[in-house]
Amino acid sequence: MSELIEIDGAEGEGGGQVVRTSLALSVATGRPVRVRNVRARRGRPGLLRQHLTALEAAAEVSGARVEGASLGSRCVALYPSGRVAHGSYRFSVGTAGSAPLVLHTVVPGLLAHPGESQIVVEGGTDNPAAPPSRFLTEVWAPRVRQLGVQLDVEVPRRGFFPAGGGRLEVSLRVPERLEAFEIHARGALREARAIATLSRLPARVGERELDELARALDGALPPTVARLEEIPDPRGPGNVLSLALHADSGVEVFSAFGAKGKPAEAVAREVAAEATRWLASGAPVGEHQADQLVLLLALAGGGSFTTVRPSLHTRTQLALIPRFLDVELTLDEDPVEDRARVTVRPRG
Ligand code: ATP
Repeated sequence: MSELIEIDGAEGEGGGQVVRTSLALSVATGRPVRVRNVRARRGRPGLLRQHLTALEAAAEVSGARVEGASLGSRCVALYPSGRVAHGSYRFSVGTAGSAPLVLHTVVPGLLAHPGESQIVVEGGTDNPAAPPSRFLTEVWAPRVRQLGVQLDVEVPRRGFFPAGGGRLEVSLRVPERLEAFEIHARGALREARAIATLSRLPARVGERELDELARALDGALPPTVARLEEIPDPRGPGNVLSLALHADSGVEVFSAFGAKGKPAEAVAREVAAEATRWLASGAPVGEHQADQLVLLLALAGGGSFTTVRPSLHTRTQLALIPRFLDVELTLDEDPVEDRARVTVRPRG
C-alpha cells in the first residue's frame, strides 16, 4: 500500500473543504490519507453531519477502512481498498447539512475511474455558505461535463436550511480519459435570469428582493428575466435569491440567503455585490466556481482559467491538490486588476 498522506486540517482555509478535497483525492488516487485538526479554524471544530456523510460516502465507493468516523471527530483517516466501485449509491446527511458538498466529495473521487454510477444524496440542497442547487446544476455540472463526462443532476426535492430534507439525483458516466480545457475570455453577456425562491414566506419578500436586485444592477446587465419560485415545504421556511449570468464562457450563478431579521433588500445587495465584482473583473470564473474548478482540472491533469482574485478556499486547494496528484498548479495574479490566472500542468 502507498504511503499515508498526512494533512493538517488547520492549514489555509482550515474548514470542511480541506477534509472533502483530501477524501476525494484519496478515492481518486487510492492513496490513504489522514487529516488531523479537522476544521480547526471553525467555531465548532471536528466533523459535522455533512463531513461525516462525505467520509462515509468516500469509504463506501472506495471500499475503504476508515478511522474517526464520528460526529465531532478531529482526526480522520481513509485507507482505500485499491478498488473503486461505480454503482448505485444513496447517502443521507440526515440534517440540513449540504447535500451538494457531499456530491463535491464523491463525484471528483469517481472521476478518476471510468464507469457509471447513480447517486442519491439527501440533505439540504440550498444552504448558506455552500453551493445552492442552482449553482450545482447550472455552473458545476456543466464544467464536469466539459471534461467529457456524462452527468445529469436532478433536484426532485429542495431542502432549505435549517430544516433540510431535500434530494439530489445524479447519474454519472466517466470516460477512460478526462479532457482538460481552458476558460479565459468571458465573451459577450447573453442573458440574466434572477429567481427568488421562497418556501412558506410571503411573495412580497421575493418581490422586494427582485426589485432591489434590479435597482442595484440597473444598466449593468442585459435584459433580465426575473421570477418568483414558490416551493411550500412542509418542513419549514426558506429563501434563496439567485442570479444566473450567461456569457459565452459559460454560466455564473450568484446567490444569497434570507434569514430571520435580515431585510429582503440586504439579501439582494449581497447578490448584487458579488455579481458587480465579477462583472468588473472581466474574468469568466467567479470566486466559488474557482475553488471547485481547480480540482476538476487537476483530475484531468491540465487546463487553465482566469478568475477573480482567488479566495482562501482556492489558495488552499492550490496547496493541497499537489500532495496527491502529479500536477503543478500555478497562480498568476494581476498586480492591479481583480483577476488571476490558474494553470494546471503535469509535473516534471
Ligand atoms: P466549514 O467552513 O464550516 O467547515 P463547509 O465544510 O460547509 O464549512 P467550506 O469548507 O467553507 O464549507 O466550503 C464551502 C464550499 O461551498 C466552497 O467550495 C465554496 O466555494 C462553496 N460555496 C460557498 N458559498 C457558495 C455560493 N454562494 N455559491 C456557490 N458555491 C458556494
